[in-house]
Amino acid sequence: MKYVDEFRDRDLAKTIAEAIRQEADPGRTYNIMEFCGGHTHAIFRYGVKDLMPENVRFVHGPGCPVCVLPVRRLDDAVEIAERHNVILCTYGDMMRVPGTKQRSLIKAKADGADIKMVYSTLDALKIARNNPDREVVFFAIGFETTTPPTAVAIKTAERERLKNFSVFCNHVLTPSAIGHILESPEVRELGTVQIDGFLGPSHVSSVIGSEPYEFFAEEFGKPVVIAGFEPLDVMQSALMLIRQINEGRHEVENEYTRVVTSEGNLKAQQLVSDVFELRQSFEWRGLGKVPYSALKIRESYAAFDAEKRFEVSEKKSREVKSCECPAILRGVKKPTDCKLFGTVCTPDSPMGSCMVSSEGACAAYWTYGRHREKARAAPVKEAAE
Ligand code: SF4
Repeated sequence: MKYVDEFRDRDLAKTIAEAIRQEADPGRTYNIMEFCGGHTHAIFRYGVKDLMPENVRFVHGPGCPVCVLPVRRLDDAVEIAERHNVILCTYGDMMRVPGTKQRSLIKAKADGADIKMVYSTLDALKIARNNPDREVVFFAIGFETTTPPTAVAIKTAERERLKNFSVFCNHVLTPSAIGHILESPEVRELGTVQIDGFLGPSHVSSVIGSEPYEFFAEEFGKPVVIAGFEPLDVMQSALMLIRQINEGRHEVENEYTRVVTSEGNLKAQQLVSDVFELRQSFEWRGLGKVPYSALKIRESYAAFDAEKRFEVSEKKSREVKSCECPAILRGVKKPTDCKLFGTVCTPDSPMGSCMVSSEGACAAYWTYGRHREKARAAPVKEAAE
């Protein structure tokens, strides 16, 4: 298949792996953060990690949209569904993420809440059209990739005068999160997270382009290579980063030229800016409150804003005890550092978002079998609360 087979070619992979071995200086370590969960899965699924020399390390970043949603916002979604008797529509991965006291949307659904899994915003609009007597709320999550479809849904609802449709908006922004990581004490002062360069996101960059990364490449002196999701994309991008690091450069380079341009998708950007504006602050799981890192619905579309339409109570939300998702999302820990990994927490009984999501780091470690046997042999160390 074009654009797939040639990016999974075994001989080319060996050639790139050899070039990396030749060019990586054995006297130093190369810490490469893959921001995006899609890259984490490519690295594990295709064994890219095993093709790297010991001193080239991948550090997993927070680029999994389901993983970074804080428990509080999930608890709010459960409350909207249960208390306000709406039809709540959401993408599949969100259904199983445990909220406070492990209450998930799927548990709320089992208890009678009307929660539906959808594949697109168009499905949610269709449900609203077919149920004119019910309020329909789309629980919108994700980075810049999924924001344009939400903007289209809101514009469509306005055009069709769908008064029973609204959006619970949780869209977040990639560049602010990368900047926040680079500003964190763990990177700047403590040195517990070492980052020498970034694999830039694929899908996000197809929308925002490569330009938004230039500021922090320059400001923080960290090279960025925007990488596609196939194994050879990841390997070639790692090689490009190693070359930049060796030469003391910190530029934004684009390996994913078959999709990403420097300016991105201008039409999608216009749609997003028509409907959304910046939030002053938004909480991320693991990163805490990050200024100007998320979007809210503009006042001109307030009629479609579920946060304005449905009141939610003040609540004390909290993670499952012992779940290390917050530290994993900051690159401080790996899934295998979590006491619950593979024992109490598996994809069948996830204790945290990183094991639920198809882009989560814990799911990547588990799914591709690299830690299963070890985890099965280990005793259950601690029960989750
Ligand atoms: S293994 Fe489970 S409990 Fe541990 S960090 Fe990952 S999702 Fe959380």
